[in-house]
Amino acid sequence: MEEKDEDNGSFDPSIPEEGPSAPPPGWLDSVSGYEDDNGDDSSDQICPPPPDLFPHPENDRNASVPNVMVPQVSEDVAREALLKFVKKKWTYSSKPALNLVYKDLKPFTVYRYCLETYTESRSSAWKHETYTGQFVDGPQYGLSPKPWNVEVQYPPKFTDMVKKVRVPHTSSVKNCYWCHGKGRVRCSFCHGRGRMQCMSCHGMGHSSNRRCAGCHGGGRRACMRCHGTGLIMCRKCNGNKKLLHFIQLTVTWKNQVYRFVPDRQTGFPIKKFEKVSGELFFIDENLLVYPVEGFPDQEICCASKDAIREHWYKYSASSRILQQRQTIELVPLTRAVYSYKEKDYEYFVYGTENKVYTAKYPKSCTLL
Ligand SMILES: [Zn+2]
Ligand SMILES: [Zn+2]
Ligand SMILES: [Zn+2]
Repeated sequence: MEEKDEDNGSFDPSIPEEGPSAPPPGWLDSVSGYEDDNGDDSSDQICPPPPDLFPHPENDRNASVPNVMVPQVSEDVAREALLKFVKKKWTYSSKPALNLVYKDLKPFTVYRYCLETYTESRSSAWKHETYTGQFVDGPQYGLSPKPWNVEVQYPPKFTDMVKKVRVPHTSSVKNCYWCHGKGRVRCSFCHGRGRMQCMSCHGMGHSSNRRCAGCHGGGRRACMRCHGTGLIMCRKCNGNKKLLHFIQLTVTWKNQVYRFVPDRQTGFPIKKFEKVSGELFFIDENLLVYPVEGFPDQEICCASKDAIREHWYKYSASSRILQQRQTIELVPLTRAVYSYKEKDYEYFVYGTENKVYTAKYPKSCTLL
């Protein structure tokens, strides 16, 4: 059959071309408590929580902390830690570590303060799915709960998590906004004509004076995307013509952590403390915690006061504070001064793991 160079007859002006990516304004019904949500997929932050979910800090309240003993590291422990450290460094010899003479082992009192604020925030957005006859939880089943009243299952405290839930009674079924309920849309490659210029001959019908085999000389051939029909299945409703719209609530739990170690200029890089454990001797957990008071290290008291205030301003404005916890750990730090071959050196043993840090280690003379 000879194909003619004309548009395919399937062009149907009543079937729309692919529509906008989101339903147009006014397409969806307004739901009380979610008025700010428009049709697009972006989430709207819901803030702040209502007053009854809002903890109120009491003024002039403080937390007191017990006194602690500073742990002491013995020469044996200090040497063992250094040997372990040296074995991991291929350029270091264990000979100096075995033969050095200790001159001084000085323990430092290092406290690490930590404040955790466990927050919950909520946002909502309109979502949709293909409607194929599933149950529709619409407004006839009752009033939709307000964002902060939607019930969700809580994760364990201080655990980060994101949960998405469908807000009850917000569902409705509408004609698909993309295809206007037709199930199909006009192909945007060929604009619904079903045929396109032949790529082999660039529409000439021939090349090198020979009839083009790709289009049998017609210069046009069936559109590859819609296979000549001019129409493609609507990818919003998958051809089902209807969409189920609903409001999705996103609940985000986040543990906000602040850590502080005072820098006492001991020659030890303070960042090293981040990767070791300490001895936990003070833990204070409550809906809200209060500044540490009467603790011998004034810098820790100040850090506690500032961090609590900062977390309160930062997180109570946009989220709900569910719980707070403050801890103080004693992180062991000992400076070991020793002599080796009539020269003085030093290194640090730190953390309950007895890790070692040294800026300088004696060169071994065993290598010839
Ligand atoms: Zn051709
Ligand atoms: Zn097409
Ligand atoms: Zn559709």
